[in-house]
Amino acid sequence: MTASEILPLVDRFRAVVGAANALTEPADTTRYLVEERGLYFGRTPVVLRPGSVAEVQAIARLAHETGTPLVPQGGNTGLVGGGVPDESGHEVVVSLERLDRIRDVDPAGNTMTVEAGVVLDTVHRAAEEADRLFPLTLGSQGSCRIGGNISTNAGGTAVLAYGNTRDLVLGLEVVLADGRLWNGLRRLRKDNTGYDLKHLFIGAEGTLGIITAAVLKLLPRPKSVAVAYAGVASPEAALRLLAVARNHAGPALTGFELIARIGIEFAVRHIAGAREPLGQPSPWYVLIEVSSGGGDAGTMLEAILAEAFESGDVDDAVIASNLEQTAAFWRLRHDMSEVQKFEGGSIKHDISVPVSLVPAFIEEASAAVVALLPGARPVPFGHLGDGNIHYNVSQPVGADKAAFLRRWGEVNAVVHGIVTRLGGSISAEHGIGRLKRDLLAAVKDPVEMDMMRAIKAALDPKGILNPGRVL
Ligand code: ZN
Repeated sequence: MTASEILPLVDRFRAVVGAANALTEPADTTRYLVEERGLYFGRTPVVLRPGSVAEVQAIARLAHETGTPLVPQGGNTGLVGGGVPDESGHEVVVSLERLDRIRDVDPAGNTMTVEAGVVLDTVHRAAEEADRLFPLTLGSQGSCRIGGNISTNAGGTAVLAYGNTRDLVLGLEVVLADGRLWNGLRRLRKDNTGYDLKHLFIGAEGTLGIITAAVLKLLPRPKSVAVAYAGVASPEAALRLLAVARNHAGPALTGFELIARIGIEFAVRHIAGAREPLGQPSPWYVLIEVSSGGGDAGTMLEAILAEAFESGDVDDAVIASNLEQTAAFWRLRHDMSEVQKFEGGSIKHDISVPVSLVPAFIEEASAAVVALLPGARPVPFGHLGDGNIHYNVSQPVGADKAAFLRRWGEVNAVVHGIVTRLGGSISAEHGIGRLKRDLLAAVKDPVEMDMMRAIKAALDPKGILNPGRVL
């Protein structure tokens, strides 16, 4: 499209949402164009902020008629280039942030109906006010929005107990590529009536439709929560601790996060107020959370740690003694992404392998990465309970950042080769976006790719929804 074609089009889109919600000035649009990690800086003719589902439909109809690419966006906290426009300057951003109403809370049915733009923290609070729990827990929960969580099938730290976002959604309302509205806002626990279409849109990263609302599952609120840091000698010992924790706590085990010593060192060095969780440094740390609706969580956690001390799998542990310390323990874990920025370039991986193979993965990947780039510093951390490790690699001390980051693809290839050999996934929870689009075709079964392309063609025949992402 040329400038002379784009400008009249912008006027037509502006007429849909009103001038105040069609942003074109850089001062207004920049925050919609830049992704958190700084890997993507997009351009757009206009950022649209529809205030109703009807406006989203009108935007889609116009885009469908004119072949205009749309990039749906929630809180813009994604990490794979899926929610920001590309560099062409042709892609129109559709921000769902003004669709931020909680439409209904049904404590008896344990459901909540929310619009796509509701911030995850707000969902949590609304659930709490009804004495319920919405368990999706992410580092970005203060700014990510539920529509984005659903579109990316977000994971986070509570997946081992409650599943991914996919497991927490009962129904969806979706604007299709041609502007039609699918009202699938069902609140049913059982509905065995043919294809379960909501699962197509969950995790589709905005490539099949624009999610405007959802029915979420609520759960009982835990009566007590206990959190501890345990020091362990190795990922193998952490895995044995996981087995002990599951034996004692069963479904009450709601967090089991592994952190390498170097991650704690980074945090203590760079984050004001971050403190060593244990008296002595440990090569590896496990953050354990137990949430109980019945028996006391603290007692359960003590029993876990006592058994693991006895077997020698845990060398040291501290149980948070109050809410403030509990929050500080979790903050340290959530700081892991942030702290790597202070140590120069970081090459990222978001992988999963069968849980029992995590120790083998970490050992093999670290040996291979250091052989490829002597001095590189692996910073593995993440959701051991799910076999999902954020296997990030910080540059060697004093190395040139740009030169290090140029090795991104090479390091990825080495790490992903090990992941694939171990039967794992190259994107456990962050999705594909643009970042891993080329990798997808390389690791997926060709038949699976064919089916995905057929679904895309059926639901978005003109290819206007988030083109170039995922497929
Ligand atoms: Zn994660």
